Amino acid sequence: MAGNVKIVIVGCGISGVAAAHRLVKAGFQNVRILEATARSGGRIKTGSLGDIIIEIGANWIHGPCEENPVFCLARQYGLLDPKALTPENQAIDVGGHPQGLPNFFSSSGWKLNAEDVFPAQEMFAELMTECSEFQCQKGEPCASVGDFIRKEVKERAAEKWKNINPATRCLLQCMISNMLKAECSINGAHSMDEVGLGAFGLYKSLPGLDCTFPGGYEGLIKNLMSELPDGLVTYSHPVQCVHWNDAKTGNSVMVECEDGERITADHVIVTVPLGYLKKHHSTLFHPPLPLHKLHSVQRMGFGTNNKIFVEFDAPWWDADCEIIYLVWEDEDVMVDQIPDLQRSWIKKLFGFTVLKPTERYGHLLCGWIAGHESEYMETLSEQEVTCEITQLIRRFTGNPTVTPRRVLRSQWFQEPWTCGSYSHLATGCSEQDLDNMMEPLPPKGSNAPPLQVLFAGEATHSCFFSTVHGALLTGWREADRLISHYPSISPSELSKSKL
Ligand SMILES: Cc1cc2nc3c(=O)[nH]c(=O)nc-3n(C[C@H](O)[C@H](O)[C@H](O)COP(=O)(O)OP(=O)(O)OC[C@H]3O[C@@H](n4cnc5c(N)ncnc54)[C@H](O)[C@@H]3O)c2cc1C
Repeated sequence: MAGNVKIVIVGCGISGVAAAHRLVKAGFQNVRILEATARSGGRIKTGSLGDIIIEIGANWIHGPCEENPVFCLARQYGLLDPKALTPENQAIDVGGHPQGLPNFFSSSGWKLNAEDVFPAQEMFAELMTECSEFQCQKGEPCASVGDFIRKEVKERAAEKWKNINPATRCLLQCMISNMLKAECSINGAHSMDEVGLGAFGLYKSLPGLDCTFPGGYEGLIKNLMSELPDGLVTYSHPVQCVHWNDAKTGNSVMVECEDGERITADHVIVTVPLGYLKKHHSTLFHPPLPLHKLHSVQRMGFGTNNKIFVEFDAPWWDADCEIIYLVWEDEDVMVDQIPDLQRSWIKKLFGFTVLKPTERYGHLLCGWIAGHESEYMETLSEQEVTCEITQLIRRFTGNPTVTPRRVLRSQWFQEPWTCGSYSHLATGCSEQDLDNMMEPLPPKGSNAPPLQVLFAGEATHSCFFSTVHGALLTGWREADRLISHYPSISPSELSKSKL
């Protein structure tokens, strides 16, 4: 039975690969992935800077612990450093926030003392924890995380920082702006004013000190793909329209490709990114998406977060430093949006992570920039970006001669099949939106044949949206939905399929 069922998967990112892997292992023989680009991996994209392996897309396994399937697979395939495998590493819980020893530099060219900015960091961390708690309490006091942070810092600073001198208080507020910008990168949002407060706690982080793939994140994709039959993926084959609920074709769905090819299938699993869905939903589905699903696609947030890799001959940061924060001293208003994009877009870059170990990466930093400022950066030439970065670093170090050796940036907004970086729950979003995102077509209550179109991809996970492990789990979830729809497959075959 399973052998005859025809399943088309749109998109060969981790969710598409995971769905195919699970289905093939369960005995489905007629599975095909259609991928728009010439490669698999989607937002998992390993590149190089000379001889150095760098990640253009996903960087870390967030929360590498037994509960994280990406960690378990990476361990199984032997893709991790021994340190990442230790029980101590898995037990550390940092709540999904930047880790590592920091250095702080100010826009007047001074290295700041960590103790001087600590009160701001402490208050910010406390407020972020509170933001996550409104999900259970309901009745949040503001619409957005940004509004809440600003309001609360003003109120609490009046009491808590009353004995701190005015200049240092001003610096602390500038530090809050810096942390808001960092949150924009973490959440994939233009501004924390666009991230909903009520639903913020829906995102769940897992324990474990984030780790990387020394040989590149794409190793995960390659290992999974090596267990799939050859020729299962058709590359450079964009899907233009998924025709569903068509009485003429009986029970089947018809996938129309950009080159005119028409493929009928029993089920289609759509894994395209939310950014692509927002832009192309009206042409991607015929008939159009039901209104409740469409509204969730529109309400959910999908923003841009880019990396700018900058290599130096020698470090200007401390030997043990793992993260560098750039604090603008004119930003005591606690905002994360830069008004004059063209002249000042670079102010949105909150700082750099230091790639470690030095023996592997040399003196390489990864800068992080989110939002419309990041999208504007993508329109500039590499030379213009290099020039801005050089000026920025000279200003913050107070060293007019420091010069990067090489600069390379990502451009996720311009990527036509992604249209940004990852999803977040925008203001007005609730758990219902995630339920709507993952609901198959036709929707509940319809008399039409069920499970014509299924939805996977990071933006359809109820608590791990925006991550690789979230995306992978949605691929498995939709594969399992089909597997249980065909109960004739023996349970032993099913259990074998569980990785
Ligand atoms: C800069 C950056 C840093 C990140 N860092 C991390 C991190 O450190 N840790 C982490 O866990 N996550 C991180 N993420 C998020 C993570 O990469 C994604 O959540 C995950 O890879 C998404 O997988 P997916 O399968 O849902 O989507 P994708 O990987 O985007 O796959 C979707 C596929 O669909 C294809 N497609 C689109 N339209 C069509 C069409 N019409 N026809 C056919 N194919 C189509 C695309 O080409 C793509 O290959 C990061 C992302 C970015 C951009």
